[in-house]
Amino acid sequence: MKGLPAETDFVVIGTGVAGLRAAIELAAAGRVLVLSKKEVRDTHTPAAPDLNDEDEVTIHLQDTLTAGDGLCNTTAVKALIDEAPERIEEVIAWAKHFDHAGAKLVFVQEKTHSHSRVLHAQGESTASEVLRALTAKAHSLKHISFAPFAFTTALLTGAGRITGISLLNETGVPQEIACSAVLLATGGMGRIYRDTTNSEMATADGIGLAFRAGAEIGDMEFVHFHPTSLYMKKVPRFLLSEALRTEGAYLRNFELDRFMAKYHPLGVVAPSDLVARAIVHEMEVSRAKDPFVYLDLTHLSATKVQKHLPRVYAACMRHNVDITEDLIPVRPAAHFCLGGVRTDLNGRTNLAGLFAAGETAATGVHGANRFPSNSLLESLVYGARSGRAMREELKPTSTTTTLPKAAYSNGPVDAGVEELITQIQTVMWSDVGIVRTRMGMQKAIKALEEIAPKIAHPKTRRAHEAANLHLAALLVARSALAREESRGAHYRMDYSDHDDKKFLKHSVVRGDSVRFL
Ligand SMILES: Cc1cc2nc3c(=O)[nH]c(=O)nc-3n(C[C@H](O)[C@H](O)[C@H](O)COP(=O)(O)OP(=O)(O)OC[C@H]3O[C@@H](n4cnc5c(N)ncnc54)[C@H](O)[C@@H]3O)c2cc1C
Repeated sequence: MKGLPAETDFVVIGTGVAGLRAAIELAAAGRVLVLSKKEVRDTHTPAAPDLNDEDEVTIHLQDTLTAGDGLCNTTAVKALIDEAPERIEEVIAWAKHFDHAGAKLVFVQEKTHSHSRVLHAQGESTASEVLRALTAKAHSLKHISFAPFAFTTALLTGAGRITGISLLNETGVPQEIACSAVLLATGGMGRIYRDTTNSEMATADGIGLAFRAGAEIGDMEFVHFHPTSLYMKKVPRFLLSEALRTEGAYLRNFELDRFMAKYHPLGVVAPSDLVARAIVHEMEVSRAKDPFVYLDLTHLSATKVQKHLPRVYAACMRHNVDITEDLIPVRPAAHFCLGGVRTDLNGRTNLAGLFAAGETAATGVHGANRFPSNSLLESLVYGARSGRAMREELKPTSTTTTLPKAAYSNGPVDAGVEELITQIQTVMWSDVGIVRTRMGMQKAIKALEEIAPKIAHPKTRRAHEAANLHLAALLVARSALAREESRGAHYRMDYSDHDDKKFLKHSVVRGDSVRFL
């Protein structure tokens, strides 16, 4: 679009599944401006949404509650499951390329699912097809306009509610846009960690924006670490999903021994947190300077591997790893943020006019750990629910002024900022990662607090991202330190059991303090 408006009715920050689905819902109620910090299509590259038959509802509910380890909001999970069929049927109607076997859609079973309920497109991934369908639908609606490369820097408030946003536009000029309501659909925060499956985009911007505006942030200690991502120098940590282990892959340590039987009777298909911790342990005992373990598919039929895992096969081949013949070097990596901006069942936060959906939101669906493939589905269902609720916020807006041009800029990228980001990621990986201790987390908090003044007044996009990463890292570390037990994705060596009496509750961070509600 040419130039950004000074005012609109609704601002949606994010062009992933959550943002697009909300925008489609809002289009009937007023003007919707959808922002992305890069290209519209630059969102996460996920895989597959769940689709459950009606007779499977109880099982899906049970699987999700089990994964959530006591902290799921059952009503939120039920809403997800009840609305899923309708939301998915809509997307199927808008899309064209989901897998069929004759007239039926193809469902496959993921490792921790008790039934086959994941919908696939073109062999392995639905995400691009879902995104394509939502983008095309949103483009077809005349009240929706897109603003790519518009980086939101702050939420504006007045009289206790949201009044607009400020941003850096495509050319780095600051601008304010007045609106009735804002949806944060800004995705995850994986980049607070050194090793992550998340793209560069996952810098916790929604959490930073919401926290600074006074919204409640919760459950930040729960970060899901995927046990296996491709580990090669200067290669992004490509996710090697559960599908490889359900296909029959072995895990081998540095000495090429199959080690998982030592840790769990289910071996490689044990719960993924346990697999991740087993890998961490094997890497530690190897005493290697640059440790990793291997996934091994070489004993399986090459034709079957290529047919069942075409995307993984092609991705590894791009880095000269033929998964039918070579061992695949892997490490665990931060994958999904279970906490975030606290919302009710309609995406409402505690700040009037501010909504959140998708990975940046904490709706209560996931609890202490994620049930695989629920996140895309959550983005779809809760994106739509937030869009519907936001319609009620429509109010007359007042035009706000543009900030002076010289205040900020798009670059150049400051090497000092990159160095600070690396420090944050290293501290978080070493001391607030897969296995946590009080001493480690206290050390991390001290190191993060020392970085704070260097990051306090961001002037560029990257510096804003650094400030958001830093804030989210601190919130994770403080929440993890306060939760003196192990639960779901949060594992402490010094408190290795549940403590239901004290901690069957959600953490909420405000300022420096953490409360449990
Ligand atoms: C490798 C990988 C595999 C996955 N596989 C699965 C799977 O199989 N099943 C499943 O359910 N889930 C999966 N997930 C998780 C799932 O992809 C995400 O949870 C989901 O896509 C999040 O969608 P979203 O709409 O919340 O945000 P995203 O798709 O992450 O989009 C975020 C949007 O926010 C915008 N944005 C961010 N900050 C700003 C800012 N400051 N200003 C303006 N715009 C901003 C970005 O530009 C982008 O448009 C996977 C994730 C990864 C990384």
